[in-house]
Amino acid sequence: SVEFRDATKRYGDNRVLNGINLRVNPGEVVAILGPSGSGKSTLIRLINQLEPLSEGEIYIDGKPTRGLSGRALRALRSRVGFVFQQFNLYAHLTALENVTLALTHVHGLKPQAATARALGLLAQVGLQDKAGELPAQLSGGQQQRVAIARALASEPQIILFDEPTSALDPEMIGEVLFVMKTLAHSGITMIVVTHEMQFAREIADRVVFIDGGEILEQAPPQQFFSAPAHPRAQRFLQKVL
Ligand code: ATP
Ligand code: MG
Repeated sequence: SVEFRDATKRYGDNRVLNGINLRVNPGEVVAILGPSGSGKSTLIRLINQLEPLSEGEIYIDGKPTRGLSGRALRALRSRVGFVFQQFNLYAHLTALENVTLALTHVHGLKPQAATARALGLLAQVGLQDKAGELPAQLSGGQQQRVAIARALASEPQIILFDEPTSALDPEMIGEVLFVMKTLAHSGITMIVVTHEMQFAREIADRVVFIDGGEILEQAPPQQFFSAPAHPRAQRFLQKVL
């Protein structure tokens, strides 16, 4: 589980998240929606400490995570995968090497075992035949699927996605969403910042709407999309649907 308790994030005097309380249960798929600049990326980046929290606490599986460093931080990040909008693959490494790196470096697997496992992960995202390609030789959708395979390498219980399809050409969005949909049914906990309303509607167990650094509404997608309660959520949906 992931639990935010009165979590606040400031950049200097700018309070970008204000007293966030949120609990995500094991196996749950939560879509984070909200306008640009509302604090969505910051919210999920706090979870694995890509950004440090200013006040409050975030618990993962009941354990406080604030101020972890070194080995404890690495352990946290291997339990919590992260998929970025811009893929963030190593350009000089093949698809296979991008996935094996985490396994050999962080998990200390022998090269042979790491390769076997990485090939399995690439197969899981439909890229077994692209193992030897460099990122530049892959389409955006394929690169993002490699990034998902990489995030899965450490067998995380929780995976965070920050607009994973926003940098993709429209015809490639479907293949990435398909992989995410399969993953959602696998029992992993997913927190997904997305502008894909169809995905949120079909796949999420719950929608969390934020604006101005605060959670304004949380609801099951059927309810959120058919009858949003908060006026700001109503206005947001009018614009995006
Ligand atoms: P978008 O939909 O455009 O990605 P977002 O909801 O993800 O937006 P955030 O990136 O979380 O929004 O940003 C929330 C606020 O925090 C914005 O006002 C942004 O300018 C500010 N902010 C984000 N990162 C930093 C930073 N490193 N330093 C200073 N301010 C930041
Ligand atoms: Mg963002």
